[in-house]
Amino acid sequence: MGKHEDEERRAKQVGYSRSTLRRLTFIREAAENEDLPAQVRDVAKAHYARAFEHGFRVMPAYEAVMAAWREHGVVWVGTCPVCGTTFEGRRPDARYCSSACRQRAHRGT
Ligand SMILES: [Zn+2]
Repeated sequence: MGKHEDEERRAKQVGYSRSTLRRLTFIREAAENEDLPAQVRDVAKAHYARAFEHGFRVMPAYEAVMAAWREHGVVWVGTCPVCGTTFEGRRPDARYCSSACRQRAHRGT
């Protein structure tokens, strides 16, 4: 069983919603991303380690990782899954190059 499926299964057991699961995935990916400064990874690792504990709140953890990310001035370079453009994200979890592409992705066209 892959890490992603395992994470989904555990998230379902805890009752996390899909958007919460997306944030959790973001925290895990930050913890594993060797391109990030060690301080950002450490914040992400510490939070992800507790992610499935009773009473753990994902949103504050997510915000803590985002804050560390901004504090260390990390520039996110992503590839838009809709049009293939490489772009610099203002937010570390930015997925699409533009709102037009995001809307296209959500419409599924
Ligand atoms: Zn695009």
